[in-house]
Amino acid sequence: MSLFLTRSDLPFCKGCGHHHVVRSTVKALEEIGAKPTDVILVTDIGCHGIVDGHFVTHTAHGLHGRSVALAAGIAMGLPPGKKVIVYIGDGGATIGLQHLLEAARMNIDLTVVVHNNMLYGMTGGQPSSLTPRGFRTVITLDGAPLPHHDLCRLVYDAGASYVARVLGVGDFSEVLRQALEMEGFALVEVLELCTSYGVRWNPGLWLKALADEAGYTPGIWIRPPRPVFRLPAGPWEPLSPRGEGLLDLPPVEVRFSSPLEERWTMILSGSAGEGVQQAAEILARAAMAAGLHATKKGSYPVTVGVGFSTAEVILSRSPIFYHGVHEPDAVVITSMDGLLNQRERIRRMQRGVLWLDASLPIPETEAEIRVRDFRGRAGARYAALYAIWTVLQEMGILPPEALLEVVQGSSLADRIPVDRWASLG
Ligand code: SF4
Repeated sequence: MSLFLTRSDLPFCKGCGHHHVVRSTVKALEEIGAKPTDVILVTDIGCHGIVDGHFVTHTAHGLHGRSVALAAGIAMGLPPGKKVIVYIGDGGATIGLQHLLEAARMNIDLTVVVHNNMLYGMTGGQPSSLTPRGFRTVITLDGAPLPHHDLCRLVYDAGASYVARVLGVGDFSEVLRQALEMEGFALVEVLELCTSYGVRWNPGLWLKALADEAGYTPGIWIRPPRPVFRLPAGPWEPLSPRGEGLLDLPPVEVRFSSPLEERWTMILSGSAGEGVQQAAEILARAAMAAGLHATKKGSYPVTVGVGFSTAEVILSRSPIFYHGVHEPDAVVITSMDGLLNQRERIRRMQRGVLWLDASLPIPETEAEIRVRDFRGRAGARYAALYAIWTVLQEMGILPPEALLEVVQGSSLADRIPVDRWASLG
């Protein structure tokens, strides 16, 4: 088992070229001696993006076509020595072509791996702008009518430091190793055939023959070294290894203490617009004020303000290198939206505590259940914050004063008189 993967089986169809991309990436990372904690894999929408759960690295999943822009922001905020890799398909690469060209023009320190199987595999095989003329797809049964973009040519002309095109068969880790070691913008276009849709509509077609006929010439193009884009000095200085300077936020002064000795993980889930994310952020900052490390991650539907809102919080005495939560110590549910969103996780819980608003039905779970009247006592808008307050009081892992101090310093200070709010406990 590789140091970089959680499991050896990959989530792709048999024969899909994505297998070779992952294996070659892992080998290249091993050869350059990278540590998983120094690698940030940013994936796009598409079959390739399912793999991020298999990587033991930092991962981020971008919107369709936007992963290069996301990765550029990440790369600009990191100290030197990290490896930011983008996985993107041919569909995403053409949706977000301008992001690619700008990242190449700026020479941002990224390695972009384009999985070019010449169609949108995840949605059933529609053509992209990298589909060569004559290639048959589900909506171009007589063959794509237009010639494809030469992506390597475009990004090279835009200023990329390293550009390569390979046939996505076997081991091409050497090319990926070169791209990863290159300081500046590198792009590797991997030609593949989608065994589910490309082969279905083009039976008997071989990848090499397709590449030759389409003029998809393998090769490597390298520019003379030029400066990598860095953010100007000032409040946007790149992060130091300790993370100072992340945003123009006041540093958290450690004024309290916590008895917490180990890592504690919590899921807070309720309805959008009811302050779930804000409550989780307040908890994280209160924990930092008590000398702990903290991460907070939010998820909610694309349509903001509707449906569920879920936050994951990790508090720890030691630094947190992985911010995923698999078996939470606490799940806190403040509304039906939150319960529906977390019901599967709750059903799988075999330990930990489930705090549940009194308005909700009791779900099936092995966790200890504590029913509390969050909504009735604090109102819907502040139920999440009041739930955090309740949990902290019952768990005793943070002094209530730490939470109250953060509330007082937040935009809620005028809306929740702290004395009254504290008296709710
Ligand atoms: S649908 Fe195509 S691109 Fe997606 S995993 Fe299967 S073979 Fe690969």
